[in-house]
Amino acid sequence: MSDCVFCKIAAGEIPSKKVYEDDQVLAFYDLDPQAPVHILIIPKEHIGSVAEITVENSAVVAHIFEVAAKLAKVNGLEDGFRVVANTGKDGGQTVPHLHFHLLGGRSMKWPPG
Ligand code: 5GP
Ligand code: ZN
Repeated sequence: MSDCVFCKIAAGEIPSKKVYEDDQVLAFYDLDPQAPVHILIIPKEHIGSVAEITVENSAVVAHIFEVAAKLAKVNGLEDGFRVVANTGKDGGQTVPHLHFHLLGGRSMKWPPG
């Protein structure tokens, strides 16, 4: 998607602070961190949101969760963390490219606002 911010970050056209990259996924620090550790993990392929995950494209989602587990370990989140995928208007999604927030380093509240 030519006008998608996260496609541009995945293509290196917009700079980001990368924490992990392979052929399928990219992880980088959120511009506006909501926790001491706040990393975004995205598929390089454009998928609009969780609502667009299908049997054809879902393998990358499993891979994203493997990466999340590794990044949680590397960042010392032994006491726990949260993985969030805001989806659509009611979900509070602001960037229409599938992404998972990895949040940790503080105690999280429930239910979310
Ligand atoms: P959403 O609101 O869609 O769940 O999450 C989008 C996230 O992307 C927000 O937390 C926002 O701070 C982050 N974000 C938006 N634009 C950029 C950007 O250009 N670079 C980085 N690193 N983060 C961004
Ligand atoms: Zn995109």
